[in-house]
Amino acid sequence: MKILVVDDSSTMRRIIKNTLVRIGYDDIVEAEHGVDALSKLDGVGMVLTDWNMPVMDGLTLVNSIRSNDQYKTVPIIMVTTEAAKEEIVVAIKAGVNDYIIKPFNQNTLQEKISKILGG
Ligand SMILES: [Mg+2]
Repeated sequence: MKILVVDDSSTMRRIIKNTLVRIGYDDIVEAEHGVDALSKLDGVGMVLTDWNMPVMDGLTLVNSIRSNDQYKTVPIIMVTTEAAKEEIVVAIKAGVNDYIIKPFNQNTLQEKISKILGG
């Protein structure tokens, strides 16, 4: 399964990518903001996205994906910071399947992905 990792921080993208590889996912595409992500959705089975990014933020990206007939059912996990915790309700309402608070560990990411893929 191809996973799209969206974050404006290349360090965070690397951390998420390395974690996914350890879990067993090695088909990973990276994007640095929402607009970049929208151009890379083809064939993607799951999206992991940051909230705060330049050009197009994660919430706008989620809304764009959910309003696109071709991609509206693609699972999305919002990877956000502790400070943005109160915004999670907004993200869920926008159609995010789940969220992960940074910093996160491998088990957390693995559990969230399994939960989504398991039903
Ligand atoms: Mg960011």
